[in-house]
Amino acid sequence: GLTLILSTHLARSYHHLFPLKNWVEVPWSQANRSKACFACLSPFPEIPSGALNGTHTDVDIKASSESGRYACEVCGNHFCVDCDVMAHETVHNCPGCQSDTRGQAEIEQDHATNGDVMVIG
Ligand SMILES: [Zn+2]
Ligand SMILES: [Zn+2]
Repeated sequence: GLTLILSTHLARSYHHLFPLKNWVEVPWSQANRSKACFACLSPFPEIPSGALNGTHTDVDIKASSESGRYACEVCGNHFCVDCDVMAHETVHNCPGCQSDTRGQAEIEQDHATNGDVMVIG
C-alpha cells in the first residue's frame, strides 16, 4: 500500500543516514586561513610565533597545542569548538554548508509572462 511520509520524517532519516561528519582540528600550519569562527565570528587564538617557521621549541607548541579551529571538510570553513558542538549535537547542519548558495543560484525569472493585461481607457 501507499505510505505517507512527512517531511519531518524525511529530515530525520536523512540525518540518520547522513550524519554530519565530524570536523577536523585545524593544524597551526593551516590556521592562518582564518581569524574568526565562520558561524559566530568569535576570534580564534593567535598563531604562536614559531609555529609556522619550524624553529619552534616543543615547549612553545605544547603550551598552545590547539589552534581552536575546527574545519568542515565539505565547505572548508573554520569554526570554534562551541559551534562544532552545536552543529553536531543540536542543529545537525554545518553553518558553512548551509550558507553555501552555489546550488541555489538558479532562480526562476520568467514568472512575469502572463498575458492577461487589462487596459483601461
Ligand atoms: Zn563559533
Ligand atoms: Zn560545511
